[in-house]
Amino acid sequence: MAETAKILNPEKTVLLPAEKAGCSLAESITAEDVRLLKEKFPGVPVVTYVNTYADVKAESDICCTSGNAKAVVESLKTDTVIFLPDEFLASNVARETGKHIIFPTKMKDWPKINPDPNLDYQIIGWHGRCEVHELFTVEDIENVRKQFPDVVVLAHPECAPEVTAKADFAGSTSAMIKYVEEHDAPHYLLLTECSMGDNIIAAHPEKELLRLCTHRCPHMAEITLEDTLESLKQLRYIIEVPEDIRLRAEKAVHRMIELV
Ligand code: SF4
Repeated sequence: MAETAKILNPEKTVLLPAEKAGCSLAESITAEDVRLLKEKFPGVPVVTYVNTYADVKAESDICCTSGNAKAVVESLKTDTVIFLPDEFLASNVARETGKHIIFPTKMKDWPKINPDPNLDYQIIGWHGRCEVHELFTVEDIENVRKQFPDVVVLAHPECAPEVTAKADFAGSTSAMIKYVEEHDAPHYLLLTECSMGDNIIAAHPEKELLRLCTHRCPHMAEITLEDTLESLKQLRYIIEVPEDIRLRAEKAVHRMIELV
């Protein structure tokens, strides 16, 4: 995310308060992986979730967020897309768009892939996962529904497809805020990273919002208020993106921004 801020604002100084704050999705794929996928599936457009590093974005045709992934895929008007790197977001988009999906994850496994010839595979995914959202289960939903039968369950699309299917609504954090604003339920269960849940609660302090805060992102937790203050005082850690990568990544990000 810090790199994306720099990609879009090259003239500004962008600071990241913690040197090691990462993301399991960003770590799941490299620019070399994307180049190999493009070799394997020539001409197929690459859609990349924004939770990726700049060099991966630079290999992509267009970026997407959890809120606009379906619209981005549909905008491409092609039979097939490569959708990276979130396996669950790709599966949720496949369900929403009616597309079939395959996961040629490990390069060494590719020769073994034997797609059903009767199906027209239209989304080529990757086995990246958010290490927080993958922990939510159907059982979590069932347990909360036993205690609060009238609860409305909101799940982030980085959750597994069986979890989003069981939820009453699946959407990004801002879509969840809007949903809570527009509906009047006695309780809501937020299946999203706990700090993201804080944002929804801050937007709607008058509503009863339940969370399962056993699942906190260890990477986001690296950013503390104290580190942020030090970062501003000492101007550390400055984000740099090599210009050739920045220019190519900027195209993919801008293409998304122009679309939505
Ligand atoms: S919650 Fe953490 S691991 Fe999951 S997408 Fe966000 S930063 Fe990455």
